[in-house]
Amino acid sequence: MSRKRVVIIGGVAGGATLAARLRRVDEQAEIILLERGEHISFANCGLPYHVGGVVAERGSLFLSSPQTLQTRYRIDVRTGHEAVRIHRDTQEVEVCARTTGVTYRLGYDHLVLATGAEPIRPPIHGRDLDLVFTLRTISDMDRIIAAAERHPGERAVVVGAGFIGLEIAENLHHRGLQVTLVEMMDQVLPKRLDRDMAALLHQHLRSQGIDLRLRQQVSGFFARERGGLTVELGSGDALNASLAVLAVGIRPEAKLAAEAGLALGPRGGVLVDDQLLTSDPHISAVGDVAEVPAFGGGTTWVPLAGPAQRQGRLAADQIAGLPIQYTGIQGTGIVKVFALTAAFTGKTEATLKREGEPFHSIVVWPSSNAAYYPGASQMALKLHFGPKGEILGAQAVGASGVDKRIDVIATALRLGATVDDLAALELCYAPPYSTPKDPVNVAGYAAGNVIRGEEVVTWRDVMQRDPITTVLLDVREPAERASDRIPDSLHIPLGQLRNRLDELPRDKKIIVYCAVGLRAHIAVRILEQNGFQAANLTGGMRLYAPVRDDLKLVGA
Ligand code: FAD
Repeated sequence: MSRKRVVIIGGVAGGATLAARLRRVDEQAEIILLERGEHISFANCGLPYHVGGVVAERGSLFLSSPQTLQTRYRIDVRTGHEAVRIHRDTQEVEVCARTTGVTYRLGYDHLVLATGAEPIRPPIHGRDLDLVFTLRTISDMDRIIAAAERHPGERAVVVGAGFIGLEIAENLHHRGLQVTLVEMMDQVLPKRLDRDMAALLHQHLRSQGIDLRLRQQVSGFFARERGGLTVELGSGDALNASLAVLAVGIRPEAKLAAEAGLALGPRGGVLVDDQLLTSDPHISAVGDVAEVPAFGGGTTWVPLAGPAQRQGRLAADQIAGLPIQYTGIQGTGIVKVFALTAAFTGKTEATLKREGEPFHSIVVWPSSNAAYYPGASQMALKLHFGPKGEILGAQAVGASGVDKRIDVIATALRLGATVDDLAALELCYAPPYSTPKDPVNVAGYAAGNVIRGEEVVTWRDVMQRDPITTVLLDVREPAERASDRIPDSLHIPLGQLRNRLDELPRDKKIIVYCAVGLRAHIAVRILEQNGFQAANLTGGMRLYAPVRDDLKLVGA
């Protein structure tokens, strides 16, 4: 193999993975890793959990040291060295050694951009105050912890309820601070979760004592005379806080690439093809800086650690001359929100609507494992699928077993499976782990029913229904109805339905609901076989009620 010089800019998830893999497949290459910070290969995903003390040992966040990469992989690691310009004409990078200020030029045969993404600091008054933080690096984390320690028991304001906002809010709460979480949109995780699934998280966040302010913006941060901040919201509220964390999003750190004239994608990332090559065949890009092929077509930008490491590994193979094809990102992710977990894969309802393709959705509430076994809990599992049963996306929120089900569906989606394939999957079962019909099978059955003609409606359809043409039918037991109901609904418990069919109109569609959708499904089968037009409220009252309550609080 030729001895080529590969220079990698950025030494964390994408860059460090690439460097180590490249050495494993090319013993001859000269590999130089430039990292402007002090640390390489640290666990950025673990930062919020050290803030909360869940990860007690700060040192455990350092996954690999420059020495390890040097001795084990013979990689020339240069921390504190920042790439400041790329000269594509001469294939050189201009590098600044930060401690000395000395600048030098480094030639390359192949260059890799693994510069990641930077937190956005929106143009809000006071955003540069000492107590207004973002969280990307170890030193960001250290500063947040120091500020929290100076003012125990006081308030922290977290701005933005994406992954990082949710994680840092939970962990500041663990540290004993009162937390206000401010989000401009009407839901948490707006890019990843549907509105109804997010409502389940809203309810839980509030129950944990998080002061959740949706559809609110911060209008300014002001230093208080005796220390701390006042955070003003667009609503006029002013909150006293000991610190604030801006987690309103990140953007690809693509300045070097843009200045070098490399093609950027619509989301501002460095555009790469299925070889992870940029518009210059001597330059690859991986991780959060790269805008990559989307699984199923087009390009996408999903700044997560799994894709960054996968891309790093594949790009190393490509540089070493091995055949690769990057098959794209489908968007699988997970986040812990106190006692709940939210996970998702594929497209959301909003994306599917925007794309204009026909799709159906169902929500089921299967048990994580045998209901009689300690620790079992029901999860909300939502599936989006096309008219032929093709899996388009899935989301789940629950206390346990959510990760496993979304991982199974993510795998099925990747392999082109249909909802009937989900029903047919043979998955492991014993009471501590699952139910004989695994939640994935249950979702497959419910979706298969829809493909074969059963009509389901959503909470939105119920809220917007026309009472002239539809009636609502509650098939729960009287005690359940007494605790909550949808107004103007008829009530016939499922067990009495066959004997009371003459009470129902034959000239209207009957939307049937129960607690989670199972009894309603049975009722729909009875009604349809008796000549009625019926539909099931998918997800039942257990989904409808939190969405309704949430919309009342937040506004539609
Ligand atoms: P980074 O890891 O950001 O590394 C880029 C490196 O490049 C940086 O160290 C930077 O200093 C260096 N650099 C940039 N420009 C230059 C230059 N000009 N010269 C030299 N060096 C340069 N993802 C998940 O999948 N799950 C999670 O739970 C999760 N949690 C997260 C929590 C937090 C707080 C954060 C910040 C991120 C989290 N992520 C999570 C995202 C994940 O960490 C990133 O997707 C991943 O680290 C991206 O890897 P990367 O190599 O592209 O960029």
